[in-house]
Amino acid sequence: MSGAGISTSCGLPDFRSDKNSFWEKNKPVHFSDFKDSKESRVKSWENNIAIQQKIKGTESSNMHKCVNKLLKINKKNFHITQNIDGLHKIEDGNADQVLELHGNIFNAYCLNCGQAFETENFFNLNVKTTGDSICPSCKNGYVKVGTISFGQKLKTSVINSAKKASENCDYFIVMGSSLKVSPANSMLTIAKNNGAEVIILNKDPTPFDSEASIIINGDLEKIYNEIR
Ligand SMILES: [Zn+2]
Repeated sequence: MSGAGISTSCGLPDFRSDKNSFWEKNKPVHFSDFKDSKESRVKSWENNIAIQQKIKGTESSNMHKCVNKLLKINKKNFHITQNIDGLHKIEDGNADQVLELHGNIFNAYCLNCGQAFETENFFNLNVKTTGDSICPSCKNGYVKVGTISFGQKLKTSVINSAKKASENCDYFIVMGSSLKVSPANSMLTIAKNNGAEVIILNKDPTPFDSEASIIINGDLEKIYNEIR
């Protein structure tokens, strides 16, 4: 299971320890505001486009690539991630193994009919020209980027798959997560309760360190270089 730490090692700013105030300038819009106001919808879209621009210039880390190798080696390996940046690269054939708890920034969906759109296309063709994000398909719902906003419910199907993967694993490896956000941290508890060994690779100590058999504190890329 990965968190922001696996991506900050490639230069992406972290929401919680943001030195360059990127997130300050692109303050997240609450889900209820998105539904209630046109201005909030446009703001939310602009934020997501700014984040996407930032991600576009960022390369996946060696740790990301290492995880993908593990997915390829064994179809029973899963990657649960809290990240929306897509740097974990869903590749051909591994889509079922990558469980994005907080969604993904590259796809957008209509909140009413579920129609999917590519984020940047939708922004250029609809939000920019109409000043809102009304669905061109059902003309009745708002199209929202696929990342989970504050106040928005997580996708039940993804949560259930993540729970199942956690229940069945032999090793639960945490990479770059402070384990302060639920339900991500509850996956560790599920794994532990079902007999898994817990390994934590993170910059700082976490509230779940007492559950782990192995803890390595450090930058993820440095850890990768040591253990590869
Ligand atoms: Zn629609």
